Amino acid sequence: MLKCYEVYDKNLDYGQTIVWAETSNKAKLEGQKDDIFDWCEYIDLRTKRRPKWDKYADTKHIPIQELLDECWWFGCAICSKEGLDQSRIEDGEAFIYDEKAEYYKFVRGNLICADCKKKLDERIEKFGE
Ligand SMILES: [Zn+2]
Repeated sequence: MLKCYEVYDKNLDYGQTIVWAETSNKAKLEGQKDDIFDWCEYIDLRTKRRPKWDKYADTKHIPIQELLDECWWFGCAICSKEGLDQSRIEDGEAFIYDEKAEYYKFVRGNLICADCKKKLDERIEKFGE
């Protein structure tokens, strides 16, 4: 069974991604395909095992709430506004939206900001689904 790894760059300049692979080196190769590492050298990539997410190896998608619980933040799936996290959700400034959407490859679900949620709600009210 494939194992879950977090892949990041040694200076934390580019961010991190999650991949499922057999070994740490294979995880780096897989992680390097992510757009965020376009300007990052393979030798600068690091991995961290994430055994709690091995169970998602089949679907390769972690429910977004589990990442939020670990202090991850995301950009708005609609306008790309950054810094949406659990505290923003608690303040009503961010919302979990459309469990099926896959804006981030390894995530099941998206976040949207309060402004986009408002526009979306208005559109649904006006035009229905
Ligand atoms: Zn937005």
